[in-house]
Parts: sequence; C-alpha cells; structure tokens
Amino acid sequence: METIQVHDKVFKPYITENQIQQRIKELAENINRDYAEQTVIFIAILNGSFMFASDFFKHLTIKSEISFIKLASYKGLKSSGTVTTAIGLDVDLHNKHVVVLEDIIDTGKTLHHFIPQLEHQHPASLKIVTLLHKAEMTQYPVQIDYTGFVIPNKFVVGYGLDYDGQGRNYRDIYQLVE
Ligand code: 5GP
Ligand code: MG
Ligand code: MG
Repeated sequence: METIQVHDKVFKPYITENQIQQRIKELAENINRDYAEQTVIFIAILNGSFMFASDFFKHLTIKSEISFIKLASYKGLKSSGTVTTAIGLDVDLHNKHVVVLEDIIDTGKTLHHFIPQLEHQHPASLKIVTLLHKAEMTQYPVQIDYTGFVIPNKFVVGYGLDYDGQGRNYRDIYQLVE
C-alpha cells in the first residue's frame, strides 16, 4: 500500500481493510452474545460512522434496528470546541436497549454532550461501541463498552473518516505523516 494525499496533507497506511473487517466481526460477535435475548436500537453517528455502521450491522444476528444522527465538533485537524446537532434522533428510546456506534472517540467531548440527551429518554440500557479510541486524549469522561482499536494521538483518515470533507472513500485507515 502507498501513501495518499488528502487536500494538502500526506497520509500513510495504518490499519488495513482486513484488520478492520476482522475486528468489526469480533465486535459484532460480542454484541450478538451480550444481547442474544434482546432487541437493540443502534444509533450511528454520522458522517464518520457510516462505513463502520454498515459493515458492523451486516454481522448482527440479534433483533436490531438502526437510526442515524448527525453531530459535528471537528473542523480540519482539530476539534472546533462546540458540538452541534445537524440531524436529530427520530426514535423513541424509552425502555429500549440502545447501542451507540461511533467511528472514533478523541477528547470524548462529542459523546459526553450527546449521551445525556439519550439518557433523558430513559432507555433500558445504553452502551457505546467505537471503532477507534485515542485513549491518551481523553478530556471528557465517557464510558466506552466496546473498542475496536486504541490508537495514538495522530490524525487518521479513510474508512469513513475525513479530513475537511475528503478521504472517507478509502477501505483502509491512514495516518497523518508529520
Ligand atoms: P471528540 O468529541 O471525542 O473529541 O471527537 C470525536 C469526533 O472527532 C469524531 O467523531 C471525529 O469526527 C472527529 N475526530 C477525532 N479524531 C479524528 C481523527 O484522527 N481523524 C478524523 N478524521 N476525525 C477525527
Ligand atoms: Mg464520529
Ligand atoms: Mg470529520
């Protein structure tokens, strides 16, 4: 695999399509096991999670529904500091088992702000799955229940993740070359 360019930056191969797909299968198997007797409402956070949610959902064997919301807190390579809701939630979570699907958790700010909005609806349970976690960047506490990969504090693109809108189309995940 070779480096890619997105806008003005160069990125090098970091997590391969095979590694991503294998890990997603394992995450889904854990969910199938832990929720074997339940119906789950998955909430995927757009835009970044669209590929992850799609691949993950195909491995589920439990009764499941999925809905999408759109939050944004990033501009370019850094968090903009504010979390905005561009597309809101259209399902009733009361007494439901809810699992949030996120592409990457960095400072934790996005979910730290969003999770209370879900809890407000009194779901029966609420858990978080993230494909990537920049563990050393935590500034806001978030209880993460299932993690695909813990990664260092380096900006990544590909597999749904963007740099200023572009780079989402790659099947692999790439890391910024500094
Ligand atoms: P947090 O609110 O946890 O600081 O950041 C969460 C959001 O920031 C993610 O959903 C994602 O949109 C964006 N983000 C954080 N780190 C990265 C990264 O390395 N690459 C990309 N493309 N987005 C990131
Ligand atoms: Mg995201
Ligand atoms: Mg983004």
